[in-house]
Amino acid sequence: MGEISYRPLIEDMTWSFSRIECFNDCPYRWFLKYIKRYKETPQFYSSYGSFMHKLIEQFYKGELTKEEMQTKFLFDFSKEVQGIRPQESTVQKYIKAGLDYLKHFEPFPFEMVAVEEKVEFEIDGTPFVGFIDYHGIKDGEHYIVDNKSRDLKPRSNRKTPTVKDKELDEMLRQLYIYSAAIKQKYGKFPKALCFNCFKTGTFIEEPFNEDAYNEAIEWAKKNIEDIKNADDFYPNREFFSCYYICGVSDECCYWQAR
Ligand code: SF4
Repeated sequence: MGEISYRPLIEDMTWSFSRIECFNDCPYRWFLKYIKRYKETPQFYSSYGSFMHKLIEQFYKGELTKEEMQTKFLFDFSKEVQGIRPQESTVQKYIKAGLDYLKHFEPFPFEMVAVEEKVEFEIDGTPFVGFIDYHGIKDGEHYIVDNKSRDLKPRSNRKTPTVKDKELDEMLRQLYIYSAAIKQKYGKFPKALCFNCFKTGTFIEEPFNEDAYNEAIEWAKKNIEDIKNADDFYPNREFFSCYYICGVSDECCYWQAR
C-alpha cells in the first residue's frame, strides 16, 4: 500500500463530516470505504439510528402520524435494525428508548423548511455535501436540527468544560460545517444549532457562535490536508468499533486475521 499514491483520487473527492470522522476513527476503514469503495454491511447501532431518522423524516413529510410512527417502530424493528445484536438487555433498552421517544414525540418548534435536505457547498474551494436532518425557520431565522442517538447533554456552562461539554463541541462541528451550507444557500448563518437526542428525549439548542464556526472550518481543512498527505492507512483496532460499528470489517484483513 505504501508504494501507491492515492492523492490524485483524494484530491478529487467531495467531502462530508462523516468522511473526515471515519478517518479519525480508523484510517484503514476510511481506505476500505472511500478508496476501495466496499459497500458497508449494516450494523446494529448505525441501523437503529437510521431507522429512527427514517421514522422522524416520514413524520415531517406527512407520510406517518405520531401513532403510525410507534406502530411502524415495533413492526419493523427486526427488519430495519440489522447487524450483530449486542446483549439482549441492550437491545431491549434501545427498543424502550425508541418507543418512549415516539410516544412523547413533539414536533420541533419551528416552521419546517426541509427534512433530509441535501446541501452541496464549498469550503475554500473544496466541495462538500451534507444531509441536514431538519431545517426550520422562526422569526426569519434559520435553525438546523440533527437527530442523534448519542446521549448528549446541554452545555453545563461551568468555568471548566466538562467531558460532556467537550463531546458536545465535537458533535457541533458537523452542524457548524452545515452552517457554511446554510450561509451559501440562504445568505445567513443559522441562529442556532440543535440536537434532538432521541434515545433520551433531550433537545439541545446551541446558539450559533462565530469562533466555534471558524474553529470547525479550520478543523475540517486541516483534517482533509492530513488525509491527503497520509502515507499509511493504518488500522485502529478497537474491539467495540471493529465488532459493532465498522461496516467493512468483513473486508478488513487485520480484523479477519485476529
Ligand atoms: S475492522 Fe476495525 S481495524 Fe478493520 S477497518 Fe474496521 S474499524 Fe478498522
